[in-house]
Amino acid sequence: MATLKEELEKLMELQILDAQLLEINNQLKELPGQINILEKEDILLGKELEEFEKAFTHFKVERRQKDNELKAIEEQIKNLQSRTNDVKTNKEYQAIQKEISALKEKKSSLEDEILLLMDNDEQFKEKEKQLKVKAEEYKKKKQEKQKDLENTINQLKENKKILEQKRQEYLPQIDKAILNLYIRVKQSKKDGIAICRITKGSNGNICGGCYVYIPGYLTEKIKRKTEIVQCENCGRILIE
Ligand SMILES: [Zn+2]
Repeated sequence: MATLKEELEKLMELQILDAQLLEINNQLKELPGQINILEKEDILLGKELEEFEKAFTHFKVERRQKDNELKAIEEQIKNLQSRTNDVKTNKEYQAIQKEISALKEKKSSLEDEILLLMDNDEQFKEKEKQLKVKAEEYKKKKQEKQKDLENTINQLKENKKILEQKRQEYLPQIDKAILNLYIRVKQSKKDGIAICRITKGSNGNICGGCYVYIPGYLTEKIKRKTEIVQCENCGRILIE
């Protein structure tokens, strides 16, 4: 039979394992979220590019329409000009000239619009290039980060398995009642510390968990090591 001292020392070691396991579990909870964030950002960039392509396509259609309009006007002007050779009267001639000059005016303003669209076209192409580069670079970065995260997760899972195995080896070495007390206290503590050593303060011994002074009679009990002693303030199991 192990002595109480030995069991409590084992309990201290178990607590270290539990703390490591808690840390691993926290990380295992958090890391997949980081992968999701990467994924979401990637989707957003993809959507941005998609929206842009839609606008660009719309723009190209508009440009093509203007080009066709210009061609049609040029054709009309050419037809009218060829008709001037066949006109019989001055009146008729002037009417055609008037029509031609109206069309030429229309043509000129259309050409201005097209020039402007050509400028925009350059800007669109530049922006398209930038967005594509951005999306591609992000994809690359995302893949690298994802791989890193997955490696970390696998490593953590491996460590967790080892720690859990070790934990299983500890359990039979500790009295069930002590173990249950440990688990109960641990569950009530945010820091997960259920057993701690006493430390020397200027006026006596202090609980290593809540830093409150321990009365002399309790210190005596702790030193005797014949029974479990809990801090009167925080309830943690105390050892020397
Ligand atoms: Zn305490």
